[in-house]
Amino acid sequence: MTVVSLNDVAFSYGDVPVVDGVSLDIEPGEFLGLVGPNGSGKSTLLRLLLGLERPDRGEAHLFGEPAHEFGDGERIAYVAQDVTDAARDMPITVREVVRMGRYPRNLFGRFSDADRAAVDGALDRVDIADLADRRVGALSGGQRQRVFVARALAAESDLLALDEPTVALDAESRDSFYDLLADLNDRGLTIVLVEHDIGVVTARASRIACLNRELYFHGDSEDFAESDALAAAYGANQRVLDHSHDHHDAEAHVNPDSEAES
Ligand code: ADP
Repeated sequence: MTVVSLNDVAFSYGDVPVVDGVSLDIEPGEFLGLVGPNGSGKSTLLRLLLGLERPDRGEAHLFGEPAHEFGDGERIAYVAQDVTDAARDMPITVREVVRMGRYPRNLFGRFSDADRAAVDGALDRVDIADLADRRVGALSGGQRQRVFVARALAAESDLLALDEPTVALDAESRDSFYDLLADLNDRGLTIVLVEHDIGVVTARASRIACLNRELYFHGDSEDFAESDALAAAYGANQRVLDHSHDHHDAEAHVNPDSEAES
């Protein structure tokens, strides 16, 4: 069953439209990278597709249900942008966080052997079994990200959604974190990832959606590299501001942090 389905979705903060006329589906097993300039509506679109915001127009569905009414929270794991910052002060251990992935099944019951196996399996899978008894607050940023992915795996979620999970990481931890996501995707987990570093995401994601309020591209990663959607999306703000400039210099406005040209 289609995991996410957006049909002509629009959303404004007050009078300011930040997402406009976006339609796209995410199929089981996809790894979708959501890219675009700063402030282009990526985080908002992620929240819309998870049902955390309601569209002003159009429809968002999760597993065939209206996204904002979707009741089966365990099927979805969301690692928000600031989650690991918030976790810096967490006095609880890694294992306790990962166990939370099982709680909806255990509101009234005890932890079963299956629960314990799921927690241990998740810790192993993201390679943090040796950190299980450490406090989350004492870990590095990269290790903390892995804890939250492990929680999602323990919950056996069908969709893992992440919003710029590696902003605080050095290049090496970032690469190994994204290799982990690619590996989880190879094993069948559906992933949607907001990431501003285009080089990193096109190397791992199977599909790309490039946004700047509107959708400039949605398709296979290989085709994105060949298309001029990137320059168009990054140049769009500038063209609006300065009509006298020919858009041939749109590339000059590409976010210098991105590795679009590499
Ligand atoms: P991105 O993730 O691509 O950086 P966002 O979805 O975070 O973009 O933001 C899109 C636009 O909406 C930006 O101009 C941002 O300033 C604005 N925005 C985001 N959140 C809010 C909010 N809670 N209230 C008002 N404006 C917001």
